[in-house]
This record gives sequence, C-alpha cells and structure tokens, in this order.
Amino acid sequence: GYQRVLEENRKLYNQVQDLKGNIRVYCRVRPLHGQVRGFGSVEHLDEGSITITTPSKYGKEGKKSFTFNRVFGPSASQEEVFSDTQPLIRSVLDGFNVCIFAYGQTGSGKTHTMSGPDVLTPETMGVNYRALNDLFLISEQRKDIFLYDVSVQMIEIYNEQKNRAVGSTAMNDRSSRSHSCLTVHVQGRDLASGAVLRGCMHLVDLAGSERVDKSEAVGERLKEAQHINKSLSALGDVIASLAQKNSHVPYRNSKLTQLLQDSLGGQAKTLMFVHISPEYDAIGETLSTLKFAERVSSVELGAARANKETAEVKDLKEQIANLKAALAKKD
Ligand code: ADP
Ligand code: MG
Repeated sequence: GYQRVLEENRKLYNQVQDLKGNIRVYCRVRPLHGQVRGFGSVEHLDEGSITITTPSKYGKEGKKSFTFNRVFGPSASQEEVFSDTQPLIRSVLDGFNVCIFAYGQTGSGKTHTMSGPDVLTPETMGVNYRALNDLFLISEQRKDIFLYDVSVQMIEIYNEQKNRAVGSTAMNDRSSRSHSCLTVHVQGRDLASGAVLRGCMHLVDLAGSERVDKSEAVGERLKEAQHINKSLSALGDVIASLAQKNSHVPYRNSKLTQLLQDSLGGQAKTLMFVHISPEYDAIGETLSTLKFAERVSSVELGAARANKETAEVKDLKEQIANLKAALAKKD
C-alpha cells in the first residue's frame, strides 16, 4: 500500500516537472442551454484544439481554430477536468506557488468549473472542493514524513476593493461582477531534516469578461464595468510583459494582479481555464475570449522553483533570533 502511494507520488511529481515553468491554458465548452445535442458555434474540437464557425449573420463568415494545452468538450465531467489539474494542485505541498483561474463571459461556466452547480454532489463538485479534499488526503498520507499546516481564506474583489467573503446571497447577486479568490497557504516541515516548505495556491473565479454596452451602463453598473475592464486588462498586460520578459512587470495596476503577483511570476505555476458559451449569439465574446487565451498561452515562464527553507537557513534564523534576544537583555 505505502509503496504504491510513494510510487504514485513520484509519478505525479514527474508530471509536475513537465508542467514547470509554463502557463497552461485549458479551454472548456459548456453544453448548449436546454439541449443535449448540438455544439452551436463550435464546429470541431479535440483534446488540444477547437474550431469556431461564424455564420455570416454574426459577422464575417469563416472558421477560426485555436490550440490549447487541453480542450474539454460539453460532456467532460468535473472529475475529468480535475484529474488534469491534480498534479499542479499537489505541487503546493512540495512548496510551489500555484494560481488557477477561470476566465470567460458571464454564463460560460466559470463557477461550474471552480465550485460546481447549485446542487453539489460528489460528482458535481468543482475544482475548489476537490483541491482541498486532495490536499488534506495527501497531507494525511504523508504524515510520517511531513507536518503540514494548511490555512484557507476566501476573498472577493469588487470594484477594486478587497473584502473578506460576504454572505452567500449578497455574493451571488454580484458574483458576475466581482472576482472571488480562494487562497490556500501550506507550510510543511520535513520531520527528519527540519526543512520547511511553503506553498500557496490561488483559485480564482474571475468576473465576467464581457464588454458592457457603454450606452446602457450608467451609475454603479458603469463603475463596476470599468473596474472589471481595468483588472482583466491589467491581467492581460502582466501576462504580456512576462511573455516579453520585460524587467518591469506592471503588477501594481490592479488589486487583482497585486493579489496574484506571486502566482504569476517566473517561479510560480499558472493554469487558466477559459470558458466558452457555444450559443451563436455569444460568438463575439467567444472569439475575444479565445484571442485573450491564445495570447496568454504563448507565455513561457522560467522554471518554477520551490520555496524551500533548508534546515541550515532555519538554524541560522534561530541563531539570529537568539542573538537578538541576548542583545535585548543586555540593554
Ligand atoms: P459563470 O460562472 O461563468 O457565470 P456558471 O458556472 O454559473 O457561469 O454557468 C451557467 C449555467 O450553466 C449554470 O446553470 C451552470 O450550472 C451551467 N453549466 C456551466 N457549465 C456547465 C457544464 N460544463 N455542464 C453542465 N452545466 C454547466
Ligand atoms: Mg459565476
């Protein structure tokens, strides 16, 4: 039993190694509303590519293809989507920083992927629940080797302000106009060597990416739309500047990018789920989502590095603390 667990961990670790240093982009297509069959604007999809048709009624007729690390069709299960994400999530226990975010227009399935539908069952649970379950499961399996401390925090960013999560009703009301972020901090101490690993994971359900009609949005609604635009385009700018390996990355341009800074830098691993609504009348937003995603997926980051505090560093820190205490006594 135990040997198999170790072997499994090693296998996953190797998969993680493969992932390291990349921004991964997975595309997920929601089923057509109220229909079991049919793919709407999605003409073709396979494991790694998607082709969209734009009938003349909705602009220039033609086909556009996009390639991603993974494409999930309308029938992909929550489990299937999670299993491709699992190695990334487990790497948090090895001291990596991870950021997973859900992008797409309102109604495209972001919350379905991250949390799940209103009625939660073991089958319908989304990435957030599965990720936490998995982290607790693995930390339990490793309890003879590591002592883990896991803390969880939920934050909502609404109009560029960071709030601790509000009541769920209030949250549903404006969930499409705010970013919600589940943050998990993990600290693991190697019981044999005393080395400490620290990992952090952000699971972000982004605000809807649709452009709001300027002529219709007024007052609060306009302000919300401007804040969403600002933060999503700041996210795009940060990623673009990482892609160009600029020395200055504009993290400070929005609360969102400030929050995600550690998870978007060269030492972190990032996964973006981009969501597509297959209805024909969503074609404009679908194409702009896919273009944003394409821009994101061209990024190659430096190799991810674990935040490992070696036993030596820990010893030195203790020595410094002791010396400071001794000095304080002398005064
Ligand atoms: P968003 O968070 O992007 O606004 P939701 O996740 O709320 O969108 O999805 C809109 C609706 O479509 C919800 O009723 C949701 O349960 C349903 N839905 C989304 N994705 C899927 C999916 N992959 N399979 C089945 N139903 C889905
Ligand atoms: Mg939502």
